[in-house]
Amino acid sequence: MRIRHLPETLINQIAAGEVIERPAAAVKELAENSIDAGATKIEIDIRDGGKSLIVVSDNGHGMGRDDLIAALDRHATSKLPGEDLLNIHTMGFRGEALPSIAAVSRMKISTREQGDEAWEIEIAAGKKGDPAPSSHPSGTKIEIRDLFYATPARLKFMKSERAEYMAVKDSVSRLAMAAPHIAFRLTHDGASSLNLPGTADARERLAAILGRDFGENSLSIKAERENISLTGYAGLPTLHRATMQYQYLFVNGRPVRDKLLNGCVRAAYMDVLAQGRHPVVALFLDLPAEHVDVNVHPAKLEVRFRDPAMIRSLIIGALKHALHQGGMQSSTAASGAALQSFQRQGSFRPQAASYAPVSSAARHALAESARPFYTVQMDLAPSARAEAPPEESPALSYPLGAARAQIHENYIIAQNEEGLVIVDQHAAHERLVYERFKAQMEERGIEKQGLLTPEIVDLDEKPAQSLLELAPTLARLGLEIEPFGSGAVAVQAIPALLAGRADISRLIRDLADEIAHDDHTDGLERRMHMLLSTMACHGSVRSGRRLNAEEMNALLRQMETTPRAGQCNHGRPTYIALKLSDIEKLFGRK
Ligand code: ADP
Ligand code: MG
Repeated sequence: MRIRHLPETLINQIAAGEVIERPAAAVKELAENSIDAGATKIEIDIRDGGKSLIVVSDNGHGMGRDDLIAALDRHATSKLPGEDLLNIHTMGFRGEALPSIAAVSRMKISTREQGDEAWEIEIAAGKKGDPAPSSHPSGTKIEIRDLFYATPARLKFMKSERAEYMAVKDSVSRLAMAAPHIAFRLTHDGASSLNLPGTADARERLAAILGRDFGENSLSIKAERENISLTGYAGLPTLHRATMQYQYLFVNGRPVRDKLLNGCVRAAYMDVLAQGRHPVVALFLDLPAEHVDVNVHPAKLEVRFRDPAMIRSLIIGALKHALHQGGMQSSTAASGAALQSFQRQGSFRPQAASYAPVSSAARHALAESARPFYTVQMDLAPSARAEAPPEESPALSYPLGAARAQIHENYIIAQNEEGLVIVDQHAAHERLVYERFKAQMEERGIEKQGLLTPEIVDLDEKPAQSLLELAPTLARLGLEIEPFGSGAVAVQAIPALLAGRADISRLIRDLADEIAHDDHTDGLERRMHMLLSTMACHGSVRSGRRLNAEEMNALLRQMETTPRAGQCNHGRPTYIALKLSDIEKLFGRK
């Protein structure tokens, strides 16, 4: 055996394996260098997903002749001023990107430092040419052709052009979100993909990348603890996606991928979002450099926090707070969609049938509806009743306005000062009951009410078994069950909020169902919320129940004072508001 020192180019090719995983990584490294060079404009041009060509040009401070030569040496950097790896204020610091990329591709750098002459240099598979005078304007342009041509093994791992292009776009988008003051442009095969003018407004940049929807349907986040600050925007629960892909974290201006964020988001949105749906979130964490280690991964995509628990609680706390504050907001996307569907059905002809004489069945229904409303046991808080204004006009000034009608036995039509509001009574009441459950749980535990005679519910053996295993948890939620022979349970007590409302055997069956389908074992808290949410559903006023004006108004007033009332427990909106001006537009009055 003979140990030998590897030649420089081979060392760089090995490093390239880690630093430059694919075209997107090369683009990211080059654009980061441009950011570090103080550029205010970065233009990126790629061809074939970046496989055949990547060009990154900037208007940054550029390089002089000697720096240009040194920049291509391994571990040569202008960015680490001292010896302290915990004192990093630039995107780069490892001095690895340029030599790594140069070792596996054909590279050309053209650059000019202000007040100096321009220079260019070419490198192929790590072989450096001599710097030559150039006519480049100030700033730097780096062209990379045939990435990985020098390492055929890696070349084989390239995905389709489209996949590589999408990855490039994602990398550029992340950097652009982190640096809104910099103008970014990305073109792919000559077609413009991103064109982002620089802006001082972080939200504007986010909206340009994540969509107008996000700009309009997000809550602003601001929190501080000691010398750590968290800012950013969190999407309303009614704006959700099928994957966690749209959750972004930036640490000291650096886009990072950290599972920590996904966990925090899950915890914060736990009871406002449907299972399997994910919110859109962009958060910026700024903390003293020594609180975070960025030297974890060659691609600098991961970080390690000195105190991850505190970061977690800061993020969860801030998100929860914002969701609480924004409780009454629901996505404008919902009312936008409503308007569109009104517009789509713009022309209709009255059908003959609508003039037909009223049939006897219809007459019966009419007579029914003319009968006085029966009072539904809404069990609304007395304070809410007291708050319900006796006069009509003051009620108009409430955000959800004064109830005017109930239609299809589930939708409350209310009028406020701005226009009209349509409330889904079941979804809304479900949220109210749920929030009251949570409030009770936090204060003195959930109130329960014993049943005079226990209700026996027949189930299959297995669901009965798993339900009984959870009996202690259910007891904490106000639901007391005991075994009753095999395959049945006896319900001894139910939460007081459900008394007189819930169909107990249906509730028990639903709970058993849910437990059977819940394959997650993570966290009692999450599970309790899931169970509570099911109970709230059973305890809420059903669609199909007629409400009188007082009850409807009481429901509206309670929604206004209940946190997170803009969404039901499954993330659907509980109400839709249409502005009078929009209604007038529908009628061509404006
Ligand atoms: P690092 O960014 O970690 O320092 P790189 O290999 O990416 O390592 O770059 C090496 C050096 O080249 C940088 O430290 C910087 O001085 C110089 N450099 C690279 N790109 C640019 C650029 N676009 N503008 C000015 N200087 C650059
Ligand atoms: Mg760099």
